[in-house]
Formats: sequence, structure tokens, C-alpha cells
Amino acid sequence: MTDSGRHAVTLIPGDGVGPEVVAAARRVLDTIGAPIDWDEQTAGASVFKQGIATGVPEATIASIQRTRVVLKGPLETPVGYGEKSANVTLRKLFETYANLRPVREFAGVPTPYSGRGIDLVIVRENVEDLYAGIEHQQTAEVAQCLKLISRPGCEKIVRLAFAYARAEGRSTVHCATKANIMKLTEGLLKRVFEEIAPEYPEIAAHHIVVDNCAHQLVKRPEQFDVIVTTNMNGDILSDLTSALVGGLGFAPSANIGEGVAIFEAVHGSAPKYAGADTINPTALILSAALMLRHLGEAEMADAVEGATLTTLSQGVRTRDVSGDEGAAGTIAFTDAVIANLHRESPTTPARTRRPLAMPPSPTRIAPEATTRRVVGMDLFVEAQTGAEEIGRSLEGLVEGTPLQLKMVSNRGTKVYPATGAMTDCVDHWRCRFVAREAASAPTDEDLIAVMTRVGRVHRWMHVEKLQEFDGTPGYTRAQGED
Ligand code: NAP
Repeated sequence: MTDSGRHAVTLIPGDGVGPEVVAAARRVLDTIGAPIDWDEQTAGASVFKQGIATGVPEATIASIQRTRVVLKGPLETPVGYGEKSANVTLRKLFETYANLRPVREFAGVPTPYSGRGIDLVIVRENVEDLYAGIEHQQTAEVAQCLKLISRPGCEKIVRLAFAYARAEGRSTVHCATKANIMKLTEGLLKRVFEEIAPEYPEIAAHHIVVDNCAHQLVKRPEQFDVIVTTNMNGDILSDLTSALVGGLGFAPSANIGEGVAIFEAVHGSAPKYAGADTINPTALILSAALMLRHLGEAEMADAVEGATLTTLSQGVRTRDVSGDEGAAGTIAFTDAVIANLHRESPTTPARTRRPLAMPPSPTRIAPEATTRRVVGMDLFVEAQTGAEEIGRSLEGLVEGTPLQLKMVSNRGTKVYPATGAMTDCVDHWRCRFVAREAASAPTDEDLIAVMTRVGRVHRWMHVEKLQEFDGTPGYTRAQGED
């Protein structure tokens, strides 16, 4: 906030339908007299076209560094090639580590779930996981994306989920993971959740496997209150939850970090509707209300939410809800919201909230283990040959070194020594070498000597040390490995 009591906010209209929904939200906030000085900036498609590979120009970055608050429209991302997503760039650049996606049933928006009282929030980790975007084409046939999950990242998102539940007077937090399969990565979020939950004794804490969470969300969504989850799980679950209350046109979101907060609709640029005055601006108007609350303008936030809910309950609907017949355009819908400002929703009372207390940054915590021992390495090799041929070749190559070949796997399944698995092998072999003497710890020189020997005959492209942390393997076994 400036000395004059006004807030500086960076405004990014975005691509496709972005300028229309951003204009709608701005009009609502300006009409209600929100004390905001807008600083309009660019990002997304137009910026990529100028040859700026990040999609986010310096001027936009400088504006956000100054204002620390952003209201933005969706940004188009080229799919499957070339540039990074400008959205992901913004989230990572400003470490907005949490993505809050509330969904609540709207009176006047009929869905198969109407009357069930859906009122939940997805708290999605926003900067780690597969969306770190660390990808490599490793062989002619195989590409890899690294799923990176950190302990501080898990601590921050779990604490924020509980803090959010506390601020909103919510009673339950579910942690949705795939820890049963990805024990080290998804499992880390589960372990951290179970460690931190006792600090919030008034809130019930449950772990749920993410696929069952999707199933339960469709079957009985009203059982959920707050769901905390990893980045990609949260991306998918939150599109699902938005559909429960009417679709992407109704899903607001807040990207929150310690220094910067970015408010945007969950939906994308929906290019086929650009400029048609048919798109539903509800998601962005509600995102603007989340922003007002973040700025400390709680009464105005309640008024904007109330006016939007009232408008919907009056039967004013855009094409996505009503079909073409009698649909209000984007501008007409926004006019109706403006006419309803200061009227509390007759059907959905404003929630009693306390300000969100951002959890403190995790102090650089002690490592999870006090001792660590290298026990071998996984060397990833590219070859067109069969499992027997590569296995025997590697055994011969490492003869006389302190390491021996333990097994070779292909696409995660052990194929050498043969187990009878009917694996459809590709050109990407994970070759696991361990110390011949179980009690010894191979040195870097030992590992490099093996890599050099193997590299004379085979093309290797990736290596991973096998380490034990306090005697516990810091790596998983291949399917079929003993
Ligand atoms: P999308 O733009 O969200 O649109 C998918 C569909 O959702 C639309 O065709 C429309 O469904 C419906 N929809 C979305 N927003 C709506 C609204 N406000 N009102 C009514 N209906 C709405 O998803 P996409 O087509 O996959 O993505 C398009 C581009 O947006 C891509 O470049 C993508 O990378 C980008 N994107 C950006 C963000 C962001 O900036 N945060 C988020 C997601 C995607 P019907 O066709 O059924 O009418």
C-alpha cells in the first residue's frame, strides 16, 4: 500500500479472452471504489512473438517487483515445443509456491451436484514436481521429465494449507498423493503432512490416494474441505472440481508466495471465444475478490463476491451455463454484477474469515539423515540390443573393478538376469551397479572407472548415484528386483 492508502497492482490483460475478462473485473473493482492504481503490462503470446523466449518482458518483471500484486488474464502457451509457459515463468520467478483454488456451489448455476453444498479449496503446490520442466530427450526412443519434490517445498505448502483452513474456519485437510507408487517423491509430501498435522490439533487431517480422491470428488464432493496436493495432481483435480460447480468459467485462483501474489482465473485463453463478448467473467471477477481480500480490503471482497453470487442467483447467466438462448454477454453480465454491488447474496452468506497468517519460511532444517553411504550407481545406457546381450556385455566390462552388475531394467522392470517378465523393451537400459563387497562404499573414482569402461562400448546418457541415508536406501527397486 502507498502512503495515500492506495494499492499498486500490476494488470496483465493476457491472451484470447483475457482482455475481456480482465476488463470486466477491473470495471467491477473501479466501480466499487477499490483504492487501486493499476499498472498495465504485457506477457504471453504477443511477447513470445517479439522474440522474448520467456514470454515475460523486463518491464513486467520490474512492475511486479514494485507492486508485488498482480491481476492477470490467461496467457497462451505453445504446446509441446519451444518456449516455456509464461504462466509457469511468472509463478517460479516470484516463488508463488501455493496455488489456492476455491470452489463453491452457486445458486442459479444448475449442475448434477446442485444442493449438495460443495465448498472446498484445492491447495496446489505451484513451483515443483514435474512442472519444474526439467526434461531431456535421452535416447532416440525415450524422453524424461524429472519429478523434483523438496522437503522445504512440502513444509511450506502443507503449513499454508493448514493456515488457510484455520483462517477460513475449516475443519478438515486432506493430503492427496500417489505415495503408494512414488514413495520418495509423493511420499515426501505425505510424510511431511503427517509430521505437521499435529501442530493444528483443531483440524482433522487425512491422507488420501490421489486417484481415489478424484473418484471421491465425483462421488461425494461435499465430504472435502481443503485438499493439499502436488503440482500436477492439483492442476488436474482443480479442473475437475471447477466442473462440479459449473465449469472453468467459475473457478478463481490465487498464486501466493512470501513476496508476491498473482490472481487469475483457472481457465486458459479459450481462443475460439476471443472478442465474441460471450465468455463468462465470473472466474476473473472472483479472482479479483480474492485479491481484494489479500490487500486487506475484506469488505469490498465480500461485496464483489456477494454481487456475483446475487447476479447468478437472479438467473443472469453466460452462454456456458444457459446455452445460446437468452445468454447474457460478458459485458451485460458484468453490468449486472455492478448493479448488485453492496447487496449480500440472498442464498450464500459471506464466510466469516480471519486474515491468512502466512506460515514462516522453513528454517533450513537438518537433513533427514545423519549418515550417508554410496552403495553403487544406476548408469543409463542407450542400446538397440536385447537384455541378455547387454547384461553379459556389462558384466564383462566391469570385471576386476570394485563394482558388479546387479541387474538391468527396462521401463522400470528388471529384465536381466531374466525373470520371465514380458517387458516390451525400448532402447533405454537402467544398469544397476553395486559394490562387490557389500560393506564397502565405492568412491567417485570407482564409479568413473566403470563409466569409462562402459562408455568405450555403449552410449550412456545419464548416471545416478545409489545412496543409503542412515542405512535406508535412497532409491527404489525395479519391478521384479529383489
Ligand atoms: P481453456 O482456455 O481453459 O478452454 C477450455 C474450454 O473451457 C473452453 O473451450 C470452454 O469450453 C471452457 N472455458 C474456459 N474458460 C471459460 C470461461 N471463462 N467461460 C466459459 N467457458 C470457459 O483451455 P485450453 O483450450 O486448453 O487452453 C487455451 C490456452 O490457454 C493454451 O495456450 C493454454 O496453455 C492456456 N492456458 C493458460 C492458463 C493461464 O494463463 N493460467 C491456464 C490454462 C490454459 P467449451 O469449449 O466447452 O465452451
